[in-house]
Order: sequence, then structure tokens, then C-alpha cells
Amino acid sequence: MRIGVPRETAEGERRVALVPEVAAKLVEAGHEIVVEGGAGSAASFADAAFAEAGATVGESVWDADVVVKVQKPSAVEAARLHSGAVLIGFLQPLTDTEGIERLTEQGVVGFAMESIPRITRAQSMDALSSQATVGGYKAALIAADRLPRFMPMLTTAAGTVQPAKILVIGAGVAGLQAIATARRLGAVVFGFDVREAVREQIESLGAKFLDLGVKGEETAGGYATELTPEQQAQQQAELEKRLPEFDVVITTAAIPGRPAPKLIPASAVEAMRPGSVIVDLAAETGGNCELTEPGEDIDHGGVTIVGRLNLPSEMAYHASQLYARNVQALLNHLAPEGELVLDFDDEITSGACVTRKEAKPE
Ligand code: NAD
Repeated sequence: MRIGVPRETAEGERRVALVPEVAAKLVEAGHEIVVEGGAGSAASFADAAFAEAGATVGESVWDADVVVKVQKPSAVEAARLHSGAVLIGFLQPLTDTEGIERLTEQGVVGFAMESIPRITRAQSMDALSSQATVGGYKAALIAADRLPRFMPMLTTAAGTVQPAKILVIGAGVAGLQAIATARRLGAVVFGFDVREAVREQIESLGAKFLDLGVKGEETAGGYATELTPEQQAQQQAELEKRLPEFDVVITTAAIPGRPAPKLIPASAVEAMRPGSVIVDLAAETGGNCELTEPGEDIDHGGVTIVGRLNLPSEMAYHASQLYARNVQALLNHLAPEGELVLDFDDEITSGACVTRKEAKPE
């Protein structure tokens, strides 16, 4: 197969969908890889490294059999795909109706990385998890950077410094990584999630579970369901009481396909001590804090609220490497013998496929 790797053009996107390590494996498996010049440079992968891996560095990436991307293509880019081409990327099937319609009309076979079923068999393709791991790690580092305090306890000649106290709300993939990273930095860490099953995972990382007395339901897929308005009000009220104890709050709470639940009202921020930091990883879907401004860092009465978007892009090297391995696993699934065999009776293939060339009536 001829696999094209365009340079990402979405604002602020530094990642690339394939890295030289993965390109070399695909070349070894008999595929031809064409990488657009400069595609990996923002993620620290030079054109020369792709060439060394056996890929061709050129411009004709959009007419390949399979085009692999991180972000969905722009309208101009999508127009360059031919009918029947396979496109892989974060295609945003739940929110980008226009883009999905465009690809369908063009006869592009689109596989959305976020739609791959989160079943054991598909774990190696799970880009939501790989990128959330990067986001959670980075969130803890941003908190450490913005905090006017040390994270660990220090005993110095000038006396003892108390460790920072951190709360991570939402202990899915990103939250658990934020907890682990904050622990490594020496902070005293608490975690909270509406899924009771997560308590054990929080504790196994050496953090404490903050009991807010709010328990939600869990779907068969392991996701939280939305809280009732009464439960949400109770959660907000409990958090407002507890937040002043913390120097840092990292929020990652999300319900798939829904706006982020609002957990921290303005009044709760106002009750926090000056110098405290909130890193809102849910900024992408509106934010868990009422005052979060997506894409901005703001100061509210001395409390910093970080609403930075696309944290994985800020650690583009490893984010791209993990993403590329996820893409490779999907490619191996779609083309086990080297040629595409799209079996739409297969749960992974049909789950991930969000646009498809309509079969012409006989
Ligand atoms: P996510 O990003 O959708 O949500 C993040 C977290 O927010 C979840 O843990 C959720 O319970 C929590 N949350 C939702 N509403 C909340 C609220 N009001 N207050 C506090 N927390 C709230 O989730 P994710 O990290 O992508 O994945 C969640 C779970 O999915 C995992 O922990 C796991 O059980 C499952 N999963 C399974 C696989 C697999 O089997 N292959 C892979 C990845 C994830």
C-alpha cells in the first residue's frame, strides 16, 4: 500500500501521524511511505530520519491509498483525497458533522481514531488513551511550573517546606497519569471520580481518595454516565467546601460526546487561596471550571486557571511516537497481509469507520 503522511496544518498542532521508527516497520512490511517535507519537524523528526527509515520525502501525499493524519483534514485538504482512499485520524465524528458529510460525499473511507472501540483486542490502537497519558503528565508539570511553591517537602537549613497538596478530579487515563506524575514530584495527592471502581486505582498510586459522597453510574464500556442535576449540585457544594485545602486542582472529568461537566463554580474558585492553580484538562470541551477560558491562562483573584488546549501537541515527540504506534496497529488490523481487507462485520473496523464509499446499485 502507498501510505501518505501530510504535514499537519491545524493551528498549534505539532504532532505527526507517523514517526521514522514506525515508518521503517511499515516499509519492512512491504508498504511505500511518502512523507510531506517538514511533516515531522515540529515534533523533532527530521526529513532525513524518515528518508533513512526508507520513506520518500515528497509532496504527493494526498493521492496515496491510505492517508494518515493526527487532526481532521481542512476542506482544502479533504478535496485532495480521491474516492475510495482510506483516511485515518482524529476525524471528530461526534462534533464535525460538516467534515464527515464532506468525506462521505467524496467516497473517502474514514477511520476515526477516537471511534475505535475500547475493547481489550483494540488496546494497542487506543489513541485516546495514549494521548490522554501525555496530557495528564503535562498537566501535572504545568501545575508545578505555575505554582509559587515547591511540590515536595523539603528540609533545608532555612527550615522545612511543606509539600503541595493536589487534587485530581476525574481519574480516567489522564487523571491517573496526572496523579502518578504529581506523586513523583513529591506532592501530597488526592483523587476523586464518580466511578467508585477507580478508588482502588487512585490508592494504588499512593494517592488518597477524596470522598465527596457522590457516586455515579458506570456504563458497560467503563465510562461514567452524566450525574443528575441534584448529584451535580451536591458535588459542586462539596467541592466548594474542600477546595480551599488544595494548592492545585487538576480537572479531567468528561462524559463521551457531551460538554464537560461543570464541577467548579466561580464561588469555589473565589474560596481558594491566592497562588493556587487550576489546570483544566477538560478545556477542550468547555472546561470543568466555570471560569475556564479555553485556550487561555487567566488569573482570578490570585488563582491561576490554565485552559490550555491540545497538551499532547506540547510534547509532540512522544505524543507522535505513541500515536504512530496506535496507527500502525490499526493499519495491521485493516491490512493484515499487506493489502486492505475491510471486513465491516469486524467490531473494530465497523466501529472506527465513520465515512464510507457507498456501494453503487447494480
Ligand atoms: P474520559 O476522558 O471520558 O473521562 C475522564 C474521567 O472523568 C472518567 O474517569 C470519568 O469517570 C470521570 N468523570 C466523569 N464525570 C465526572 C464527575 N462529575 N466528577 C468526577 N469525575 C467524573 O475517560 P477515559 O480516561 O478516556 O476512560 C475512562 C475509563 O474507560 C477508563 O478508566 C477505563 O475504565 C475505560 N477504558 C477502557 C479501555 C480498554 O479497555 N481498552 C481503554 C481506555 C479506557
